[in-house]
Amino acid sequence: MARRSFVAGNWKMNKSPEEARALALDLRKRLDGFSKADVAVCPTYLCITTVVDALRGSSIAVGGQDVFWEKSGAYTGAVSAPMLLAAGCQYTIIGHSERRQYFGETDETVNKRIKAALAARLKIIACVGETKDERLGNVTEQVVKRQVEGALAGLKADDMACLTIAYEPVWAIGTGLTATPRQAQDVHALIRGLVRTRFGADVADALRIQYGGSVKADNARELMSQPDIDGALVGGASLVAADFETIVKAAR
Ligand code: PEP
Repeated sequence: MARRSFVAGNWKMNKSPEEARALALDLRKRLDGFSKADVAVCPTYLCITTVVDALRGSSIAVGGQDVFWEKSGAYTGAVSAPMLLAAGCQYTIIGHSERRQYFGETDETVNKRIKAALAARLKIIACVGETKDERLGNVTEQVVKRQVEGALAGLKADDMACLTIAYEPVWAIGTGLTATPRQAQDVHALIRGLVRTRFGADVADALRIQYGGSVKADNARELMSQPDIDGALVGGASLVAADFETIVKAAR
């Protein structure tokens, strides 16, 4: 089945509102008229409305980098799914390894966030991926299986249309080390197989699975030409408009 590619930029904790606006406007110009892939950028909460304004009327969507599962209340520092939606987001990243590593995210809390985003009709980029020790210990399959099953617990087949899974080996994020196309393809096929077992072939064939981990202008095309790699979640290179443009245009 032909899946439409999806490339998203995770700006992480970078860019002031003014810088975010400039980057968004630059990307808007560069990607004007480009329609071969879905594109989204995920700025900090602080910059979301600025970036939404800068991209209004363009084909570039905006997403959050995380979301809390409650709708509102005494949860200092948190932002809810209805709030992201009201601010103009179509997407949110959930379960990024940096959230797991630095902010105590677990498979259970990833699942709670996914359910809250689904209830608000936000689209989700759910991240999974093994650490270096786990890869060296030959437990990549078990780890990814546990994370995917944890993320999808309690979901129905219909929910899957709102979901993208990003396979991001932790050892490749921000390190300059990239999984080889073969290594990435193997895990992508594993993830699609897990979704096939759980929800059937139609859902699995329609699911977009992004690769993330030091995707750059010069390796994007080869990675995204793998049969089960349907786009990229891009960190560092998404902060440079020309590089992100090249990566987006390398999508099949
Ligand atoms: C990411 O943060 O999702 C990521 C893949 O980062 P980088 O591209 O910088 O490795």
